[in-house]
Amino acid sequence: MAQTDYKALLANRMERDFSKWTAQGTLQESEVYRFLHTMKGTAGTIGMAELSDFCAVQLDSFSEHSTTPLSTASLKELIASFRYYFAAEEAVKEETAELETSANDPINEEALVLVIDPDAEYAAKIKETLEARSIPAVIALDGQKGMELFYTLHPQMVLVEAKLPDTDGFHLAERIAEAGRDRHLPVAIMREGGQIDDHIRAMEAGATDFLAKPLNMAFFLPYLANRLRSQEFVLQAVRVDKMTGAGNRQSFDHALSQMANLAERTGKPFTLALLDLDHFKKINDSYGHPAGDEVLRSFSQLILNRKRESDQFFRYGGEEFALILPDTRAAEADAFIDRLRQALAETEFTVNGHVPVRLTFSAGLSEYQLAQETIVSKADQALYLAKRNGRNQTRVYEAAGHDVKRKLNIVIVDDDSLVRKLVAKQFSNWKTEDFDIHIEEYPDGLALVDSDWYRPDEHYMILLDGVMPKMDGLEVLSHVRSQYPHDNILVSMLTSRNNESDIVLALKSGADDYIVKPFYAQEVVARVQRLTKRMFK
Ligand code: GH3
Ligand code: MG
Ligand code: MG
Repeated sequence: MAQTDYKALLANRMERDFSKWTAQGTLQESEVYRFLHTMKGTAGTIGMAELSDFCAVQLDSFSEHSTTPLSTASLKELIASFRYYFAAEEAVKEETAELETSANDPINEEALVLVIDPDAEYAAKIKETLEARSIPAVIALDGQKGMELFYTLHPQMVLVEAKLPDTDGFHLAERIAEAGRDRHLPVAIMREGGQIDDHIRAMEAGATDFLAKPLNMAFFLPYLANRLRSQEFVLQAVRVDKMTGAGNRQSFDHALSQMANLAERTGKPFTLALLDLDHFKKINDSYGHPAGDEVLRSFSQLILNRKRESDQFFRYGGEEFALILPDTRAAEADAFIDRLRQALAETEFTVNGHVPVRLTFSAGLSEYQLAQETIVSKADQALYLAKRNGRNQTRVYEAAGHDVKRKLNIVIVDDDSLVRKLVAKQFSNWKTEDFDIHIEEYPDGLALVDSDWYRPDEHYMILLDGVMPKMDGLEVLSHVRSQYPHDNILVSMLTSRNNESDIVLALKSGADDYIVKPFYAQEVVARVQRLTKRMFK
């Protein structure tokens, strides 16, 4: 993203805050302080030095801890000044337009950056800077936590400080780069200063880059965007069948083995569907091969438009395609394939400009069973039966067993009942086919710890207030981390102020993430959705 894009993003975020203020009519003085404080830091890192200076001066007029209510009207001039800075840079309008075009850039919108750095304050600064540009980041303070988050959250980029408390950063980066090689994961090693030896070691470790600290943010952000974009390009190029836009055979093999591994680990089901076009040779014979190609493309498009986001579609070979349907029992898959069949029946393709062509397919399904190496051949046998039985139909190799979805428990622990209600209500609007969501509220830490909340085969997202009576958030966090396994529990601390020492402690005690209060409930939900989606990957 160009520098101007960050300015536009910042302007957008600022306008969001202003609208919120206007809607509320009043706000606390401390809120203005926090706003100025954040703006000061962010503006500075994206080259708006004058605005940053302006914030610094304004900060003196507001108190960090004051709860005095201020009317939005009394802040009119301040708001106008902020807008002036952006307008003066001709930022707001033009850059919003630029932002729209940059949305077409193949930066993965879901990109997550993992920062492994024992200097929590510095890591938090990086995270804040990234998140001001809508790039989510998570922090690990040591190598072990870094590896854990790497495997749990599948980040798109990893930054590793060379000096870590428990392991050598170069060595860790090497392991991560190795593990992320097949997805072309950019891994950068950072270190204060940075001698030529560091650059050499970083390259030898297989890292993508070496970055000298302190990072120059004006460079860092475009750098990061650039790396994420290249990764996306490369992944597209190696994984996609150019003709049809479906995944290619190589990526099918890879995806299948990944799904099988996951199924072994978590016991979650998936179904493989092989789809073979019926009498395809006739299309080639009647209208020529280019027409046949056109039909293959149109068919692929039809499936790509209709599949769920988590479903994976591949060209298995020739006029044969494969769908991997995660979290799907054979019976559900059967119904879904029927819907595709229906859609295809209602579609008339045209070839050679005007000739109408109708198409059907036969399908064979097989649901993954534990330690099963024969899923493809079973689906293929089922496909063969479908063909033999007259085509244009689906056969399931193995009938569905029981219908169990995985369960995600959202656990909200906060002594402020209003916060609990607000967050719980926002979560109750979250509907997903992928798993069942269950929301639990606890008024304090002790209530959670004393309860019988944990079931090993379910997943947990715990939102934990820092300051609570009886047992505070950190104690609860330490308890959870020492008593339960990590891989099915994500913990996000709700820190009441942007208090860096709280954040450091939380991360050191094993929090996966933190959210600074006050927050919008929607933001909390969006953040949790992103993190948990990765948990289930
Ligand atoms: P069935 O219903 O038994 O599947 O009949 P079919 O004609 O579809 O089956 P068969 O497997 O015998 O033939 C598949 C044909 O698909 C043969 C091949 O020429 C054609 N084909 C495979 N790949 C491509 C391609 O990329 N482009 C075109 N135009 N045709 C292809
Ligand atoms: Mg065939
Ligand atoms: Mg065929």
